[in-house]
Amino acid sequence: MMLGADGGEVGGSDVNGVLTIDERRVVGCAHQLGLILSSRWPGVAAQLLAQGAEGEGVAELAGLSRMASPWFVDQLVPELLAELSITELPADEAIELVGRLVGQAVAARKDADEFAAVRELARLSPSLGYPLGVIGDAYYASEWLDCECHADSPERDAAAALEASLRTSNPLDVDSGLLLAVTAVV
Ligand SMILES: [Zn+2]
Repeated sequence: MMLGADGGEVGGSDVNGVLTIDERRVVGCAHQLGLILSSRWPGVAAQLLAQGAEGEGVAELAGLSRMASPWFVDQLVPELLAELSITELPADEAIELVGRLVGQAVAARKDADEFAAVRELARLSPSLGYPLGVIGDAYYASEWLDCECHADSPERDAAAALEASLRTSNPLDVDSGLLLAVTAVV
């Protein structure tokens, strides 16, 4: 952040230079694809605030409880996104990114289900209209995870390979607290 002689900020564009490019993109794609539930936004905002992000929307959201009305929370989200200069990504880019995000979050957890990344990405699919890309792959793979007759099958092997590739994808430059906050349901 740039400071003037009086210690105040100069202009507005550098206000949230405290976040990495990946962090902005991750919050954006997680919002865009419905990964962050309304009840989780106060936690995400609190994390962003702790990392030095500034803005009225950020502060107001961070001050809400998880029990706050989703209607009220959802109204503040666009404000926060604007304050952090987070813009919408092309759909295919957002999907590729959320795959890396969820994979990285699951890989960091010790108690994750064997197919946690596949299951989480598959969960996003219906409300997005069954998109292609890694969400589509995960949705297809998820059909075979709990099917006993597919315990030893090429489909189950493909699901395991997808899970492994998600968990080892090119890591994002994201604070571990923020990673946890945006993927809290994973
Ligand atoms: Zn089966």
